[in-house]
Amino acid sequence: MEIDLIKINHNARTLVERLGQCGISVTGVTKAALGSEEIAATLIAAGVKRLGDSRIENIKAMQLAEVPAVMVLIRSPMLSQVEQVVACVDASFNTEIEVIRALSLEAQKADRHHGVILMVELGDLREGIMPEDLLGIIRESLTLPHIDFKGIGTNLACRSGVEPDRRNMAILTELVYMIEKTFDLRVEIVSGGNSANLQWALSGAAIGRINDLRLGEAILLGCETLQRRPIPGLYTDAITLTAEVIEVKVKPSLPSGQISQNAFGEKPVTVDRGQVSQAILALGRQDIDPDGLQARKGIDIKGASSDHLIVESRCEDLLIGSEVVFRLNYSALVRAMTSPFVAKVYDSCSKSCSNGE
Ligand SMILES: *Cc1c(COP(=O)(O)O)cnc(C)c1O
Repeated sequence: MEIDLIKINHNARTLVERLGQCGISVTGVTKAALGSEEIAATLIAAGVKRLGDSRIENIKAMQLAEVPAVMVLIRSPMLSQVEQVVACVDASFNTEIEVIRALSLEAQKADRHHGVILMVELGDLREGIMPEDLLGIIRESLTLPHIDFKGIGTNLACRSGVEPDRRNMAILTELVYMIEKTFDLRVEIVSGGNSANLQWALSGAAIGRINDLRLGEAILLGCETLQRRPIPGLYTDAITLTAEVIEVKVKPSLPSGQISQNAFGEKPVTVDRGQVSQAILALGRQDIDPDGLQARKGIDIKGASSDHLIVESRCEDLLIGSEVVFRLNYSALVRAMTSPFVAKVYDSCSKSCSNGE
């Protein structure tokens, strides 16, 4: 996996600048980077305000590497990890009062303060407090020792693909006003969402009180995430994956014999295309999501098992030992990052200039 830090810096800096003009800061989301200190440091250098990760293990890795950043846990803490959460981060995103009570107890023991940002459910049906329950939870949180209520947020387009739009973003702002009026306080952080919010944020729509977005994919892959279209001016090839050819043979396109389930419980349907030249790459589902890879024109992915990726080349014959370069979607990226078999190579002196290509 080749990770071009110059291109990631450019992507992050561009988004920080564009959103800055609307009064929105960026929380750089590192969860797809497995705590990579190189990527984390690049995001900070590009001007993101803080780093967010969903796993405390990644946050610890970045802290061990002395990445100089404010870090927040963007997934609700596990009850079994509240002690680590209080020790490692100053703030976390929360949806359960039971967890906030436990954070309060641990924070008292550790003599630390812990900031809480409450996630609100606005239609995507992943994490979030139902809006009608929000005031009650804030009321109790405000009474809990060593808990600082920092703000609210929402997350859309993750489970159900619900688009962030004028309507649901206006609801978030309305909730801010309601909280401020009810409790006579100022809501500091209003975190409107993730990469799927860019279209809304940069459309010239009224931003209301939203002052933060949590961005991962848009920075790393240069795409918005509602239609997965390239964002103008960003690199979409900051991260690529290279795999080596280990077998090249002409074989029938149709398997022979009775067909039952394959290794993954599927029953593949194949059509007869005569004899084909197929190549096997030393890469598999342990390392990537085969549906999330894209090679250059003329190379098609035909199948994958745990350790073998089968491709067909329509233009030239691939040679044993030669390499094929892929672009990755988010799902392939996350798996490649977490696979110990994929070597990560950081490049911080950009050679090519395929901006926006
Ligand atoms: C993953 C995640 C993000 C970042 O999403 P991207 O689509 O990568 O920008 C933001 N917020 C939460 C809560 C997340 O889990």
